[in-house]
Amino acid sequence: MKKVIVITGGSRGIGAATAYLAAERGYAVCVNYLHNREAAKSVIESIEQLGSKAVAVAADVACETDVINLFNTVDEQLGKVTALVNNAGILEQQMRVENMDAARLHRIFATNIIGGFLCAREAVKRMSTKYGGAGGAIVNVSSGASRLGSPNEYVDYAASKGAIDTMTVGLAKEVAEEGIRVNAVRPGFIDTDIHASGGEPNRIERVKEFVPMKRGGQAIEVAKAILWLLSDEASYTTGSFIDVTGGK
Ligand code: NAP
Repeated sequence: MKKVIVITGGSRGIGAATAYLAAERGYAVCVNYLHNREAAKSVIESIEQLGSKAVAVAADVACETDVINLFNTVDEQLGKVTALVNNAGILEQQMRVENMDAARLHRIFATNIIGGFLCAREAVKRMSTKYGGAGGAIVNVSSGASRLGSPNEYVDYAASKGAIDTMTVGLAKEVAEEGIRVNAVRPGFIDTDIHASGGEPNRIERVKEFVPMKRGGQAIEVAKAILWLLSDEASYTTGSFIDVTGGK
């Protein structure tokens, strides 16, 4: 079967590392992004140089019409999706809960929760044997924050990942008989741009001493866990989690 993967937020960080690895493993790759067209273009050009097929598609995962257009574009340009990585996610300036306004909470929950649900919905409609699909696999990119709560930094972000953990368990059970597996990875402190969004670009230097392995992780170390969960090696694994956290 032709392998077609959609990676939301595939232009940078964990998503970009997953895109490269998926291409190496024989997937045709859709790199979704929000604004950074240059970064997305550079990922797909590198994949094309490896001889694999890739497209970059701008879409805000929090916007229903954008998500519908994203999956329709993939249908037309790559074929029916067989794997989804719900990776796009955001956090905002570090602060305590009592200082968070509703606008911020809406932004975090819209991208991190509603975005994941909308993309999963479109993927299920295409993968489920109930709708004539050939099955597939979904990996949600949660966070170790869902277990730890991120006090004094971003409890809103941690809570959004808690919702994604619950969605992983529920959706996995809902579609288990329809040829679809749903799992999640929970990365720890990974060296990407996301920490700058919280106002602390060098956060990993500060927090690595709390990690049993005494270092931050690299995006490729998360990508390898994602690709394993998507692969046939994980054929009896659904509703499960891999913590990629250096032991934290
Ligand atoms: P990143 O380097 O900040 O990259 C974020 C990616 O998401 C970019 O490709 C960005 O697109 C895209 N994006 C943001 N909002 C979007 C939206 N509304 N619609 C579509 N795409 C959107 O992030 P990262 O560190 O790789 O994180 C990836 C995932 O891992 C997130 O879900 C994050 O919560 C999770 N995670 C990260 C860490 C960590 O330490 N890095 C730890 C645990 C979990 P543009 O390039 O266009 O901006």
